[in-house]
Amino acid sequence: RVVVAGSANMDLVGLAPALPRPGETVLGDDFVMTPGGKGSNQAIAAALAGGETVFLGAIGSDSFGVTLNARLASAGVGVDLVRTSYGSSGVAVIMVDRAGENSILVSPGANRTFVGLTGEETSAIGAADVLLCQQEIPMATVHAALRAGRAAGTRTILNAAPARVLPSGLLDEVDLLVVNETEARAITGGDDPDVAALLALVPRVVLTLSGNGSRYADRDGADVHVPAFRVEVADTTAAGDAFTGALAVAWGEGRDLIDAVRWANAAGAACVRRVGASNALPTRSDIEALYAG
Ligand code: ADP
Repeated sequence: RVVVAGSANMDLVGLAPALPRPGETVLGDDFVMTPGGKGSNQAIAAALAGGETVFLGAIGSDSFGVTLNARLASAGVGVDLVRTSYGSSGVAVIMVDRAGENSILVSPGANRTFVGLTGEETSAIGAADVLLCQQEIPMATVHAALRAGRAAGTRTILNAAPARVLPSGLLDEVDLLVVNETEARAITGGDDPDVAALLALVPRVVLTLSGNGSRYADRDGADVHVPAFRVEVADTTAAGDAFTGALAVAWGEGRDLIDAVRWANAAGAACVRRVGASNALPTRSDIEALYAG
């Protein structure tokens, strides 16, 4: 079983001929609204990948909250412990021009109210095989969740995205760190992702390398490049979420990590073949079809 403690946002995406400048109003093209947020996306990814999945997070008392909850539930994610807080849900206002350039405003809304853990939330983390966190909720809550996981013997995964300053001691509670190259540099400093420096902080690291697949390294001396699956790329949005959700499921099923990373690569590749975010996340059979080759 996988527990994801993280964010849920409604993504409001407006397409426009050009991005409006300060004070300017631009007549746009199409508009789409999709459930998003790294926590919600990764919970949906894990459930679709075949893991029994519970989401811990906070949604608002607005209509977006109803939609966010319904999207999670329809993917098979357990939402019984999701908090509803009075006020707005998390919202990402995204403007995209015809060249694909974007401007994004994230308003955390209810995600900011996910503070501290209830007894039920702590029990759910303790009953899981794997806990998966990201960095779109208050960092003190991320830290508390990881600590609860570690204390209960649940394997803890931190996807350190988006890059943020980490409270001291937080990485001590992490069994497996998942980062892309930018996030890796944010943790270690320096120009190149430094896996040795990351292994001084956490016992196991997965570095995602977009179209080049990923790299797995651990303190037992493993350092392996796991190549990507070759697919036709339609849209790379949510590839990292598909990858991380699937990785949590595979590790929870007891696969060895190099094989779990290969399986997660198949999930990332299956995601980039489709346009969209949470609606492009692959099912277990999509993943298996690519993985089997
Ligand atoms: P993020 O979006 O978080 O930066 P990446 O871009 O590294 O994450 O993608 C996550 C994973 O998705 C990669 O490790 C890889 O397995 C898969 N992936 C991403 N882009 C491609 C691609 N163009 N072709 C095949 N697989 C891809």
